[in-house]
Amino acid sequence: MSSSHDEYSSDEESFDEKTKSQVILGFVDAPIVTNSEDPEENEEPTIEDTFIGGQPIWLHPDSKPSEKSLTCDVCQQKLALYLQAFAPMQGKLYDRVIYLFGCKNTKTCSNKKGSVKVIRGIIRDKETVDRIKQENQDALNKEMDAKLKLEKKKQLNEELTKDLFKKKDTANPFGGSSNPFASPFGSNPFDKKSQEEKKPEEKKQPSYSEVAAKNAPKPKPVKKLDVELPEYNGYFVYTDNERFKKQVNDPELDKYKHLIENADNDDFDDTVGSSTTDSALNPQTSKISSMLEDKYFENFSNTVKHNPGQVLRYYLGGKPILYNGKDEVAKKFLTNPPNIPRPAYNPSSERQFELQLMPKAIMDLEDATEISDILNGMSWGTIIVCTDVEDYIPEENFDENQVGYIEEWCGVQWEESV
Ligand SMILES: [Zn+2]
Repeated sequence: MSSSHDEYSSDEESFDEKTKSQVILGFVDAPIVTNSEDPEENEEPTIEDTFIGGQPIWLHPDSKPSEKSLTCDVCQQKLALYLQAFAPMQGKLYDRVIYLFGCKNTKTCSNKKGSVKVIRGIIRDKETVDRIKQENQDALNKEMDAKLKLEKKKQLNEELTKDLFKKKDTANPFGGSSNPFASPFGSNPFDKKSQEEKKPEEKKQPSYSEVAAKNAPKPKPVKKLDVELPEYNGYFVYTDNERFKKQVNDPELDKYKHLIENADNDDFDDTVGSSTTDSALNPQTSKISSMLEDKYFENFSNTVKHNPGQVLRYYLGGKPILYNGKDEVAKKFLTNPPNIPRPAYNPSSERQFELQLMPKAIMDLEDATEISDILNGMSWGTIIVCTDVEDYIPEENFDENQVGYIEEWCGVQWEESV
């Protein structure tokens, strides 16, 4: 019966269900369209969307963060949006968004403090509070309903099995270890359901009816900004649980590993000199080798290999994956407990990891087609965002629309300079 298990597994595109992680990944979806001649062709995000690039959507059209939070500390130019993530907190009666910005003057500002900034925003107006209360109530009702149905089903099953044993005392055809329908990992479909319901930050690609509904009058239209920020290409982002492929072989990486092994041998065996000559002939080799000697980078690329399209990793309270193990950012996460800067606006609290932007986003944001575009473009490996554990925003930051913004901490792991 093992063959039938294999057949079931192949439905899962060779992903190993056992190793589903708690990390939620973001992948690029349809492009954002805001200026089409035919307004019906526009695909504009709302605050409930997660997207990269384009213009930020503020929590209220008249409520924007401070000018300073949107300005590069190095060149004083306005920042461009990297990522806007809809990230509501379970059990909180407000909506919540994370905005990540960076300076487009990469020549002058890459590798410099204050050229990348992150803002956390909250809206807690009556409309939002009432809506979330209603959603919570609906979810509770649904859960009660499901419990009742499950109870009824259980009763029914008991009745059925009673009958079965009455009629046939000998063998139970559905029992035993050879049941082809038994899940190999003992999971049941309700587990999956409840996990999905626990993911408030998951936003699916809008369905046709949702898109069509945009033509109907909206309760709160999203007004265009008066002054637009510089921008990158905009794409919606959809999310899914991180899953690991059963087997990933990357011949390229294997090749580099072999080079490192050769280099290591040279240290001990003076009679073999050919590898040293190889790396002298090819300066790229020694650079790649030195990067791969960093086990954190190796872990980073190994993790990404399972889901190469990821532009975003979300794991509130979890751990980021480090692009290297050497820089100032890495040092903060390599101590136990991590040494993430505390929020100055809430000194008794601390910050925790929330999300990180992944290098695949650079390709989508820049849409680089020329080598020169790539060389002059963004040069970070990952951007790690940490937020206040208490999700506090000082009262004086809230405006008449009950919107408040605060700058949070982000650590940029820059690409090593050549
Ligand atoms: Zn700048």
